[in-house]
Amino acid sequence: MAGETILVVEDEQAIASFVSAYLRKDGFNVQMTASGREALTIVGTDAPALVVLDLMLPDLDGLEVCRRIRETSTLPVLMLTARDDDLDKIAGLEVGADDYLTKPFNPRELVARVRAILRRSAGKTKPDGGVLTHGDLVLDAGRRECRVGDQEIRLAPKEFDLLWELLDHKGLVLTRDQLLERVWGYTFAGDTRTVDVHVRQLRRKLGDAAPIVTVWGIGYKAGPAPAVAE
Ligand code: CA
Repeated sequence: MAGETILVVEDEQAIASFVSAYLRKDGFNVQMTASGREALTIVGTDAPALVVLDLMLPDLDGLEVCRRIRETSTLPVLMLTARDDDLDKIAGLEVGADDYLTKPFNPRELVARVRAILRRSAGKTKPDGGVLTHGDLVLDAGRRECRVGDQEIRLAPKEFDLLWELLDHKGLVLTRDQLLERVWGYTFAGDTRTVDVHVRQLRRKLGDAAPIVTVWGIGYKAGPAPAVAE
């Protein structure tokens, strides 16, 4: 596949060059900017295939940039963070990034994740249709909609896919690695904290409507649906 363009938004020149070099070596075109504002302009005019977005930027921070991208598009975003605890911060703010990577990272892992995200966003992945129900909860894959009773619950794309995967295998335990592979498209052992962060978000948003059970030392499974109120 010839030259999809990746936009790298990073103000640390050394990291930006390093990441760009690896992406180019892997056949991507790369655009670079150190500015969040400029990134938004480029997204609007040049339509990159994916954005690698650093959290700490001098003008507009990565969270704000991601939020503004999400207002108008589903353009895939891979967020770079300086610290582990930023993962919680990012998830807590629900900015809708597709994936996160903590510095320092292996550039090969970054390239692998970029490929995985693009594979998924190319639509070769499930869920691509159908409806799953769990008590009061309804997941509509065609509309990418999640409802509990009359209420629509807004889920980030990966939260939706993760919940779908769990409900599609009701009662079965899925390991973090299996979830990474099926939801994020990784075919190697990736960072399983990504799964934990997304499970935490789903629990916060859905509470008892979608009980997700931690199976210690193994992974997660969907618990039984709560009784539907009459
Ligand atoms: Ca930075």
